[in-house]
Amino acid sequence: MQQLQDILYSQGFGTRRVCAGLVQQGLVAIGEGDAAVVCRESAQPFEPEGLRLRVQGRDWQVFAKAYLMLHKPAGTECSQKPSTYPSIYTLLPAPLRQRPAKGAVQGVQAIGRLDQDTTGLLLMSDDGQFIHRMASPKHHLPKVYEVTVKHALETSQVERLLAGVVLDDDPKPVAATACEIVGEPGRSLHLRLTLTQGKYHQVKRMLAAVGNRVEGLHRSRIGGLVLPPDLAPGQWRWLQAEDMALLK
Ligand code: URA
Repeated sequence: MQQLQDILYSQGFGTRRVCAGLVQQGLVAIGEGDAAVVCRESAQPFEPEGLRLRVQGRDWQVFAKAYLMLHKPAGTECSQKPSTYPSIYTLLPAPLRQRPAKGAVQGVQAIGRLDQDTTGLLLMSDDGQFIHRMASPKHHLPKVYEVTVKHALETSQVERLLAGVVLDDDPKPVAATACEIVGEPGRSLHLRLTLTQGKYHQVKRMLAAVGNRVEGLHRSRIGGLVLPPDLAPGQWRWLQAEDMALLK
């Protein structure tokens, strides 16, 4: 059991004093949504495991480690220190960015990067082992991209992407594990491509290598986890146990 103010502190809601203040001001409720009941006693003990809170009007799932998915919108950078566009980290509430960890401040990190103009599914966590496992090329987690190209797609281009193309930074060819034209070959501008590696600008460079050009790129799936249709660009969501099972 932990005091409510300590639970809030562990979640990154500010110093212990700030957290006690949130409770005393009636800004913290136990439970979810309309059913949540305000608790004004900052020292009241609760079991943190599985605890659902409503803090300043927003539902909060108490966690030891954070695992989430973000629908990355276009025109955002995956860097904490972006050069041109806003950072994806500004889309997350402050507690997820600044949680206290062993005395230091450590928030969630993006697992891999998407280009500023790429949209779609991005995983984020503050669990080092999970990040390492998901990002490891050994893990071979397939990632599915919906690609819009400039020139109508030919079957021969699909064959070359499946056979492997050589990129400029490595003589070893890289191949798509699956690739299909969505629509009619010779007319369609839409390709669905599955990769297991994550090289820099990989989709764009692979399409350039077969004489085409990427005009739009969206990641729709990682492993068995599909970007939920109701998660709008810019929104994030906790990964639940069933989502995690799809990332094995
Ligand atoms: N490949 C790219 O070229 N860009 C991305 O953002 C992801 C994969």
